[in-house]
Amino acid sequence: MAARRKLIAGNWKMNGERADGLALAGELAVRAKASAPACDMLVCPPATLIFAVGFAIAGSGIALGGQDCHAAPKGAFTGDISAEMLKDAGCSYVIVGHSERRHLRGETDADARAKVEAAWRAGLTAILCVGETKGEREAGSAVSVCCGQLAGSMPDGATPDKLVIAYEPVWAIGTGLTPTSADIEAIHKAVRAKIPEGMRILYGGSVNPKNAADILAIEDVDGGLIGGASLKAGDFWAIADACR
Ligand code: PEP
Repeated sequence: MAARRKLIAGNWKMNGERADGLALAGELAVRAKASAPACDMLVCPPATLIFAVGFAIAGSGIALGGQDCHAAPKGAFTGDISAEMLKDAGCSYVIVGHSERRHLRGETDADARAKVEAAWRAGLTAILCVGETKGEREAGSAVSVCCGQLAGSMPDGATPDKLVIAYEPVWAIGTGLTPTSADIEAIHKAVRAKIPEGMRILYGGSVNPKNAADILAIEDVDGGLIGGASLKAGDFWAIADACR
């Protein structure tokens, strides 16, 4: 079986206006053209910057993704973006079921599942996020929560080229806290047992240039979904470099 090539994905969230977004994308593109990264790289800018960032990273090998999509291909859904629109704008990935969508917008496993199906319909690879809250971890139910979310949101027919899983403990996102290596490995192993062979599982939650090498060396960790540290080209690049 071919080794799983690591993927380092940047989730810019609701950050970046044209000048800083283009500066960030441009610097990443320059670095990627100068020396090919040892992993696949992806940036997911806010919707307003997708086109511009697509031009800035063209020819660099860095892929472009959306942060969310609607389940329908088009229609009267003010403010939403379809997977087809993301594809048309140059995206090849879309993040689905991020904890900020699940917890701040009340999205359910069924919603995430419908969005994964929408991504596939449009020809995008979905990055499906799962992860437990602090209370769930403290109650000892992290594995069952993550596996339950996976069961509820991964459609039949998933293949490694169409789906990437991201384990993102909710309490580790943007907090500077990370699980122990043993805890990350335990979740990734449990998820691995439930997905097709060859599918990548990313870890996300307070990854930075200092802890990246240790986290990326954990068995069954196939890359990272990076929030805050993806907003600085040097930090994001250093995390990608830790895949070497
Ligand atoms: C995220 O929101 O997907 C994330 C991992 O954020 P951070 O790296 O800032 O914890």
